[in-house]
Amino acid sequence: MDSIASKIVVCMGNNMITLQDALKKGKKNLIENKIENGEHDAWLLLAFQFKISKAVYLAEPLKEISQEACDAYLSLIEKRSRHIPLQYITGEQEFMGLDFLVREGVLIPRQDTEILVMEALKVSKGKEVLDICTGSGCILLSLMKLGGIKQGTGADISEKALETARENAKRLEVTAEFCKSDIYSHINKKYDIIISNPPYIPTGIIPTLMEEVKDYEPVIALDGKEDGLYFYREICKGLQEFLNTGGYVFFEIGYDQGEAVKELLLKAGMDNIKIIKDLAGLDRVVTGRWNEKKGEPFT
Ligand code: GLN
Repeated sequence: MDSIASKIVVCMGNNMITLQDALKKGKKNLIENKIENGEHDAWLLLAFQFKISKAVYLAEPLKEISQEACDAYLSLIEKRSRHIPLQYITGEQEFMGLDFLVREGVLIPRQDTEILVMEALKVSKGKEVLDICTGSGCILLSLMKLGGIKQGTGADISEKALETARENAKRLEVTAEFCKSDIYSHINKKYDIIISNPPYIPTGIIPTLMEEVKDYEPVIALDGKEDGLYFYREICKGLQEFLNTGGYVFFEIGYDQGEAVKELLLKAGMDNIKIIKDLAGLDRVVTGRWNEKKGEPFT
């Protein structure tokens, strides 16, 4: 036997495993389990497990890996095959170009929500901002990091969310205040901007959501009660008390809630109300401004 042939026999005898073998197994598993974007997720988990970029993988797909490393990768794949969201497996999600820590019990930042932040960034410089239902803190912290705001408070009823938001502030090296508050229950000053991506899915719709969302994400961060508008109503009720004259409101909304939320803001005395669409052409954000004190207190 010449030396190359003997080498091959040795490798096979040792059951040599390559990055490519692991990736193939990962893809097959996720496709068989009908995981949406399974092929891509198999790749992302490979990149996560082996801390490699696509370029590194493509340059050396036949790089040998240990049995233990392959098993560790396949256990991540197994979790994903049970519809656990990718971000709860890796513990991270990029948002506004920044890396956020996420964990079960806290809503995963959505790309759609970048539209909300981008709108607020247009006016946020030098302002004091209150983010209601802050979750991971991704809205407030990206405004603080990118928008030059003067002061930021994130409110949430969930301890787990607040803990995650505080860790994210530390990682991003920004000083924000996070407080446990049921909407305004523990808020005691006025702000220039009130921003929120509250739970807005009507209770009856939740069972129809994809498994990743309905089985693993916190229902408390999704459920907007009967008509999905509960939190908008409650936030609007407090605008007289907690929003400065000249202040702005920014809400993320469900695709069919634009007109209803616009009505609520009008009723609360806001004007300059705009409904902004997302990249798919669906209503996604409603903003309003309180140009002068007018209108009756919202009840
Ligand atoms: N946009 C989220 C979803 O579709 C809902 C987030 C929310 O209720 N604020 O799952």
